[in-house]
Amino acid sequence: MDWSRRVLRCAVLRTAPGEDVLAPLAHTLCGFGRWFGSNRKLFQKLDAPNTRRLDAVHQAMHDAIRSICADVLAGRPGQGPDLESFERMQCELISLLAEFKTHFLASAARHDPLTGLPLRYGIEDEFTQVQKNCRRHKTQLYVGIIDADHFKRVNDSYGHSTGDIALCHLADTLRRIVRPNEPLFRFGGEEFLLLMQCRNREAAATAAQRIVQTVRRAQVPLAQGDSLVLTITLGLARAGEDEAMADAVERADKALYAGKEAGRDRYVIADEVATA
Ligand code: GH3
Ligand code: MG
Ligand code: MG
Repeated sequence: MDWSRRVLRCAVLRTAPGEDVLAPLAHTLCGFGRWFGSNRKLFQKLDAPNTRRLDAVHQAMHDAIRSICADVLAGRPGQGPDLESFERMQCELISLLAEFKTHFLASAARHDPLTGLPLRYGIEDEFTQVQKNCRRHKTQLYVGIIDADHFKRVNDSYGHSTGDIALCHLADTLRRIVRPNEPLFRFGGEEFLLLMQCRNREAAATAAQRIVQTVRRAQVPLAQGDSLVLTITLGLARAGEDEAMADAVERADKALYAGKEAGRDRYVIADEVATA
């Protein structure tokens, strides 16, 4: 609003509108340009082509207004095509921003604000996609449910906010060790769901062992140099080629329960491989 006000005053009163209108790089100096510049990565992550378009449209809008203001300040009337370009670009800028706003809100609703991991919303589509990939690459899909051991004790002994820190630490550790093609979700409270693509059962067991060990070794740093050993139990079930996700999850959950019964801090793979 302040920027538009100065542009209007320049057009009507011929007062200098400021560097963020007249400078060749005015689009990097205006309020929007500075905000957009410092948040560009977030925009790019969401939609790279539209981020480039937003940049170009914003710059073109500035180029048109600079030309108009330069004419006015030199005592000439502004050019019609400049004004038309400005109006067109401003319109497109506003609609691109509205689109991004919808995108940002939808993405925020799909992610857990505590750990930043995706929530279970949309998990079934992801499952179907990984199932397809596995069929194409002749690999096996293992559904893994990861549950923090004795997490209630962590909250009871250290307080809920330290519990939150421990959960974030666990999420970071898991995010670091899973492969990029293996989606990880916050499934509920202190539970995470992982879709693993493995060559065979042995490879699944090796990966599961590595996850359990890495979590045990990655102690949670606390205040005053203290640390906390957090362990997990991981229940795994190989999903059949056409098996519904809910069935594979149920079997993984049973394996998880067996792991808890057997003493926690371990993985268990469900025996049977489901057929359709
Ligand atoms: P088990 O080894 O059998 O899984 O024991 P547990 O104590 O982890 O299991 P239980 O289901 O009894 O307790 C889970 C605890 O996790 C209780 C709940 O308050 C805590 N929890 C769940 N979500 C969060 C969270 O977002 N933050 C914190 N701080 N605690 C959470
Ligand atoms: Mg649990
Ligand atoms: Mg637990």
